[in-house]
Amino acid sequence: MCSLPCCLAAIDSRGLAFTIEERQALGIHGLLPARVKSQEEQVQLCKLSIERYEDPLNKYIYLMGLLDRNEHLFYRFVGENVADLMPIVYTPTVGLACQKYGLVYRRPRGLFITIHDKGHVYDILKNWPETDVRAIVVTDGERILGLGDLGACGMGIPVGKLALYTALAGIKPHQCLPITIDVGTNNETMLKDPLYIGLRQRRVRGAAYDELIEEFMQAVVRRFGQNCLVQFEDFGNANAFRLLEKYRGRYCTFNDDIQGTAAVAVAGLLASLRLTGNKLADNTFVFQGAGEASLGIAELCVMAMKAEGVSEEEARSRIWMVDSKGLIVRNRPEGGLNEHKEKFAKDCPPIRTLEEVVNTAKPSVLIGAAAIRGAFTPAILRAMADNNPRPVVFALSNPTSKAECTAEEAYANTDERAIFASGSPFPDYRTKDGRVLRPGQGNNSYIFPGLALGILCAGLVDVSEDFMLLAAEALAEIVSEDDLEHGSLYPPLKDIQNCSVKIAKKIVDHAYETGKAQVQPQPLDTEEFIRAQMYCSNYEPALPPRYVWPSDTAPRV
Ligand code: NAP
Ligand code: MN
Repeated sequence: MCSLPCCLAAIDSRGLAFTIEERQALGIHGLLPARVKSQEEQVQLCKLSIERYEDPLNKYIYLMGLLDRNEHLFYRFVGENVADLMPIVYTPTVGLACQKYGLVYRRPRGLFITIHDKGHVYDILKNWPETDVRAIVVTDGERILGLGDLGACGMGIPVGKLALYTALAGIKPHQCLPITIDVGTNNETMLKDPLYIGLRQRRVRGAAYDELIEEFMQAVVRRFGQNCLVQFEDFGNANAFRLLEKYRGRYCTFNDDIQGTAAVAVAGLLASLRLTGNKLADNTFVFQGAGEASLGIAELCVMAMKAEGVSEEEARSRIWMVDSKGLIVRNRPEGGLNEHKEKFAKDCPPIRTLEEVVNTAKPSVLIGAAAIRGAFTPAILRAMADNNPRPVVFALSNPTSKAECTAEEAYANTDERAIFASGSPFPDYRTKDGRVLRPGQGNNSYIFPGLALGILCAGLVDVSEDFMLLAAEALAEIVSEDDLEHGSLYPPLKDIQNCSVKIAKKIVDHAYETGKAQVQPQPLDTEEFIRAQMYCSNYEPALPPRYVWPSDTAPRV
C-alpha cells in the first residue's frame, strides 16, 4: 500500500515524462496533467527555472532540490550544461553553500561520523542504505576551498565532488558516498551560529583523531571492500600530507588537493611546452606558496622531468619555492621547514620577497598557490616578460578574489606574451591586434572524475604516482592546436566528459600493463569496456517488460 506522500515522491522522479500507459499501470493516472513531456523538454524547463534565480545560492538550492526529486533529470541537465552549472554545483558557489549549510541543508545526502562515534564507525556505515558503494569522498572540513575551517558544513564539498563523479565521468550515483568526519571546528563564527549543524566543540587532534580516521579506513574496507576508493578532500595541510603518506599503498586512496591539483597543473605545463618548444626540464620554476597545491605540483614536476631523462637532483635544482617566510633555503634561521619543503631547500642566503626571488632565479614558469591576491605584481610580471619570450604564469589560488593576478594583468604586463592559466575562471581578453585569448582554467575537475572512473573500472587499489603523471599526460594530449592558439592550456569545459573517458582509458591500460588491475580478464576494447559501465541519465522504462503467454498454460485445479 502506498501513502500519498510516497506516491508523490515516485511521481517526482520522472514527472510529466510518465507515459499514459505507465500512469495507468502504476495507478497514478490523473495525478498528472494530460501533457506528456520528453526528458529534453524537461531539461528546457530546468533551464528556464534556474535562470529565474539571480542569487547563485538560490540556483544551488534549486539544483539540489532537483537532485533530490529527479536524479536522472539532474544529471542530464548538468551533463549537458557543464560550463554553466559547474560553478554552481562546485566552486565558487559550493563554497557559499558550505558557509550557509545550516540554511541550505534539506535531507541526508551522505554520512556524518563524529568523534563521539569512535568504536561504532562500522555501524554508521551500515546505516547507509546502499551496499554497492565504490567511491567515497571524505572531508573533515578543516580547509574548505580557500575558506578555511567550516567544520561539518564542509559536507557540501563531498556532495558536490561526487555529483561531478557522475555528471563528468558517469560513475553511478548509488556507488558514490559523501562523508564528513566531524571532530569539531575552530571556526568561532560557526561555533556561535545557531544554525550550525555540527558538533559544537573545538577540533579534536592527536591520537583520538588518528584513531578515528584509522577506524574509518578499516570500516570502509570491512563494509565496502578493499577496492572502495577513498578520495581525501579539503583536509588541513598537516593532516593531508600525513594521512596520504600513511594510507597510500595500503588503501585505494588519493588526495585531490595534493595529487589532483598536481596532475591538472602539470597537464597545463606539458601543454605549454608545445608553445615554448621546450622540454619541461629546460624550465626554471618559482612557486609562491609551499602547501598542498604547490608541493604536490612540484613533486609531480620532478617526476615528469625525470621521465625526460634528467636526474632527481637536477630536477629539484630547477625548482625554487617561496612560503610565508620567504625563499625556502637550507638552515633557515626562522625554521619552519617540514620534510616536504626540505627537499626543495636551496643552498643560498635567505631571500625575503617574491620579487627578489624572481630576479635571482629568473624563472620561465611562475606558479602561485598561496591565496595572496596581487602577489604577482606588475613588476614581477614585467620581469617574467623581460627574461622569457613566452613566460608561463599560473595564478592558481581560489576563489577569484585570491588570485595572484588576473588574466588581464598577466597579459597587459607581458606585452601579451604570457602563457596564462588560473584556478578560477577569467573572461576572454582581446589583444591590441584584435585576437581573442580564452585563458584556461586549471580546474581539478579535468582530472579526478576520469581518474576515479579508471581506478574503479580496473579495480586498481594502489594509486601510485605514475597514474597521476599519466592522467596529466592524457589531459595535455587532448588540448588542441586551436585551444593553444587562443591561449588556453586546457580543453573547453564542455568537453570535460570526453576528457574523463580518455583519462580513464589510460589509467585502465596502465593498470593492466603494470599488473595492478584486479578486474579480470582484461577487456579487449578498453574504451568500450569503460563506456559500458557508465551511468546513463536517460529514463529507464518505468514498467517491467511484459510479453504474451499462451492462454492455456495456467495450472489446472
Ligand atoms: P596550504 O596547504 O594551506 O598552503 C598555503 C601556502 O601558502 C603555505 O605554504 C603558506 O606558507 C603559503 N603562504 C601563506 N602566505 C604567504 C605569503 N605571504 N607569501 C608566500 N607564501 C605564503 O593551501 P593549498 O591547499 O596549497 O591551497 C593554496 C591555494 O591554492 C588556495 O587558494 C586554493 O584554493 C588554491 N588551489 C587551487 C587549485 C586549482 O586551481 N586547481 C587546487 C588546489 C588549491 P607556510 O607554509 O609558511 O605557512
Ligand atoms: Mn579541494
